Amino acid sequence: MKMQAMVLDRHGGPEVLERREIELADPGPREVRVKVAAVAMNHMDLWIRRGLPHIKHEYPHRLGCDIVGTVDALGPGARGVSAGDRVMVQPGLSCGVCAACVAGRDNLCKQYRIHGENAQGGYAEYINVPDANLLALPDGLGFVDAAAMPLCTLTAWQAIIRKGKVGPQHTVLIHAAGSGVSSIAIQIAKLLGARVISTVGSPEKVQRAREIGADEVIVYTQQDFVAECKRLTAKRGVDVVLDHVGGEVFEKSVLATAWGGRVVTVGATAGYAPNIDLRHVFFRQIEILGSTMGSKGDLAEAMPLIADRRIKPVVGMVLPLWDARTGHEALENRRVFGKVVFEVNT
Ligand SMILES: [Zn+2]
Repeated sequence: MKMQAMVLDRHGGPEVLERREIELADPGPREVRVKVAAVAMNHMDLWIRRGLPHIKHEYPHRLGCDIVGTVDALGPGARGVSAGDRVMVQPGLSCGVCAACVAGRDNLCKQYRIHGENAQGGYAEYINVPDANLLALPDGLGFVDAAAMPLCTLTAWQAIIRKGKVGPQHTVLIHAAGSGVSSIAIQIAKLLGARVISTVGSPEKVQRAREIGADEVIVYTQQDFVAECKRLTAKRGVDVVLDHVGGEVFEKSVLATAWGGRVVTVGATAGYAPNIDLRHVFFRQIEILGSTMGSKGDLAEAMPLIADRRIKPVVGMVLPLWDARTGHEALENRRVFGKVVFEVNT
């Protein structure tokens, strides 16, 4: 069938995104065609648009891994949903049969892929996805709010609960409250009873960070977050850090961590080769843990909390998909607090 999509044939600035009519194949075995209602942006969209050398794309490529909509058609043998069902799409794709997949750790699958990264994404009117990637949308949760949730929820769930092992006895430092993952991580850490310190880049964002749940907010452009973390913890340092910034910030995250604490790294937007003084790591017995995405089970586990609004989306900008270039510019220039969500088929 023919459909409208925002595609890219080459990599570069927002101008490489183009609206075009393209052909979508019928859903294959155990696939489901979803009519996309909304698709949210992630930093991944920017990296893929700019181009990453190790990823092979099939052009025209569609970005977008945070996808919600309604079931439009079922491929042969597809299970679990019916036409018209409101659904959330799991961002991660995996083989389903390897040891990691059957253990419920599909984000460790050797064939793990992500919609919009190394598989086609949701910047389009429709997308075909495996039936195993669909979750029922809770009643009362609108498409725009729902689209803001999948990737950041499963990423924050694994990082805060499984890797960070956050509990009520902990003070947690979560960088950049306005980022998608951090805005959900703050809420999860609060639900676990922890005390949360977060950072923002400008004073106008302090109130927003507090509204999400941060107990203490540091304006990192004006204050040294290591000194502030020490001050706020009677010189002890924080028990857990969620760091998706990398670079010098990661070096300082290690310094802000208490003896025996944990630093969870989920990304490196500011540089992937920090200089870490290992004496701080071994002598103070700090654990450094890597975390990428989360399993399908993590998102399924979080759904009841999404349904009853104990975890709320933080949406900063809503645009028609056909204005995706504007959304890319806003996220790139850090002009937005919360998720950029594109509406489709409205
Ligand atoms: Zn697998």
